[in-house]
Amino acid sequence: MMAKHPKRVWLPLAIVLLLLAGIVTCMWTLNRNLLPGSSRSPSGTGIHLGSGTSSSGEYNTVPMGQDDIHQGSLILVNNDYAYSFPEDDQLVSVYENKNKSYQVSTTHIQLQKQFVSQFNAMMEDFSAAQGIKDIIVVSGYRSKDDQQAIVNQKIQQLGKEEAMRWAAVPGYSEHHTGLAADIGIYTSDGKSPSYQGQGKYAWINEHCAQYGFVLRYQDDKKDITRIADEPWHYRYVGVPHASIMQQENLCLEEYTDFLKRYPYDGDHLTASDENGKQYEIYYFPAKGDSMNVPVPKGKEYWISGNNVDGFIVTVQL
Ligand SMILES: [Zn+2]
Repeated sequence: MMAKHPKRVWLPLAIVLLLLAGIVTCMWTLNRNLLPGSSRSPSGTGIHLGSGTSSSGEYNTVPMGQDDIHQGSLILVNNDYAYSFPEDDQLVSVYENKNKSYQVSTTHIQLQKQFVSQFNAMMEDFSAAQGIKDIIVVSGYRSKDDQQAIVNQKIQQLGKEEAMRWAAVPGYSEHHTGLAADIGIYTSDGKSPSYQGQGKYAWINEHCAQYGFVLRYQDDKKDITRIADEPWHYRYVGVPHASIMQQENLCLEEYTDFLKRYPYDGDHLTASDENGKQYEIYYFPAKGDSMNVPVPKGKEYWISGNNVDGFIVTVQL
């Protein structure tokens, strides 16, 4: 009986030590990005982050309505936040606007204008670097009816319960935004293998953030996104946001929350990329039906809704 005594003491002690280590790690992670005026060195994508009081000088305001939070390249669309299908979407035909460095599976596929122009630039550089032009865009914008057709097809194939694990409810698919596309590899026999982003194609994941794209659904974030690993699904969020998300390892759900730590009336987030471009980023909460969003005088800026509760202003310094 005596021999068991040390075990009884050590087990609770080990649990307490493990808990303490967990708490310390959590606090360190939180503090990393919360300290006002802090800055960190780049660790991969070469973007340098900091925070501090605004350096943009005087501000003007831009009138915005509550509906405007549903538009822009940073909108979050998932099981909780539906897409609102605004009328002035800038959808264009991929077939009519693409360059020759990649393919598209049908002439009907549409994406937002900004997506296509940035994808053209990325594919041109990819093709020059790797000597191949066989990336094919297989899915882009989907209407509610398109998504319903996909759901119906999956239900026939898999049964209702399993189908709903794979296909989003119409209204809640990121493909509605026209800011997301699925890609594959084009082969002359028409059979494209499932895209995994490996080998020569790894270049795309290594460089996509510089063009404003993120790999939206990754295995280590599936508990948050509630979508399994999809190495073929790219989302346009814009520069420098894609690089910040990649460097900080944040999915869009996490990044939407992260940006709220930098409100207009608090410390703003600053970012400088490997080309020396500098940005200032802040969040402005949407309150009431109409509001005035502050923007710096005489500087280039972009406003995007987050599709949840406010706006993100990105300023190029
Ligand atoms: Zn997709």
